Amino acid sequence: MLIPFNKPFLTGKETLYIEEAVASGKISGNGDFTKKCQTFFERKFKIKKALLTSSCTDALEMSAILLDIKEGDEVIMPSFTFVSTANAFILRGAKVKFADSYFNSPNINADCLEDLITSKTKAIVVVHYAGIACDMDEIMRISKKHDLFVVEDAAQAIDSFHKERPLGSIGHLATFSFHETKNIISGEGGLLAINDERFIERAEIIWEKGTNRSAFFRGEVDKYGWIDIGSSFLPSEVIAAFLWAQLEQLDTIQDCRKQIWNTYYNGLKSLEQQGKIKLPYIPEYATNNAHLFYILCSTNEARNSLIGHLRKNKIHAVFHYLSLHKSPYFLNKHDGRVLPYSDSYSDVLLRLPLFFDLELEKVRYIVSKIKDFFDEV
Ligand SMILES: *Cc1c(COP(=O)(O)O)cnc(C)c1O
Repeated sequence: MLIPFNKPFLTGKETLYIEEAVASGKISGNGDFTKKCQTFFERKFKIKKALLTSSCTDALEMSAILLDIKEGDEVIMPSFTFVSTANAFILRGAKVKFADSYFNSPNINADCLEDLITSKTKAIVVVHYAGIACDMDEIMRISKKHDLFVVEDAAQAIDSFHKERPLGSIGHLATFSFHETKNIISGEGGLLAINDERFIERAEIIWEKGTNRSAFFRGEVDKYGWIDIGSSFLPSEVIAAFLWAQLEQLDTIQDCRKQIWNTYYNGLKSLEQQGKIKLPYIPEYATNNAHLFYILCSTNEARNSLIGHLRKNKIHAVFHYLSLHKSPYFLNKHDGRVLPYSDSYSDVLLRLPLFFDLELEKVRYIVSKIKDFFDEV
């Protein structure tokens, strides 16, 4: 039987809570389960205001609306990221300027940001790749100096920290994902974290189709109407109920994932010492939330033949992002700068299976098959 790359984990309470939501007679959004999930994030991760969304993509689109991104505005972000990070800002008419990664980490290289800032720059979007923090001290310093907004794409970064601060609580805005490939899931799902109080009121309006419906239901206004642009960004209570069952088990899920991650790391260390692969780099200021385990091969050919070798041994390992500045959609919009590290992660990064139900014995089997491959070449 094939060891899959991912398998969604169920805590067992999901359907129970969905039944509760259905029985309550309210299954549209912004009900009790939504509030429970939002409060959980606000308390545990020190977020001023959390709003559940139907996806991280939605939360990114809300961020672009909230920051009033318009035609001609420039937004800086890494090229090594998921399409939604860029799409959300492109949809508002922004010009995206892609930055390179570090030589030893796929995260955005803070040292190259100031060269990319112009009078039109409005925001920097950072992505905590694999749940490992970007250099937030430096990024916040630069954003303050140039009066820019910072959005953290924390899709992969639940329960991870920069020094003592939870990721998602540092930028003006931040976004999380509960897609079934993430640590905490609801099938599709996301959350917008608002850390700058100036955005809270308008965020609720954008979330509710451009109306002040949320304020109306709290009794703050006596009628509600259309007062801004917006969309239907909130998920139903069915999704929130599922998500709540997962959040209750956060610590159990994280402990298990970290065990798997450490088993890979310790098992593969000798290959790194022999110079055959590189393992993830975790800076001193960052924690590891075991969102994903990747290795870096020395060449694209080696990476691809390792994928084939693992496949033959019934292990599904996968590559990750292709640099966005080279994508068919963006290629003719890019200013021509070469982003060698981003390209190199596209070429040589390999993600190994990592999910709750993956037994440590299987992890050791995967490690042994990787070692076999390097013994043969
Ligand atoms: C998963 C992911 C997204 C998209 O999340 P959805 O909830 O599927 O919209 C965006 N950015 C990054 C970095 C991701 O890993």
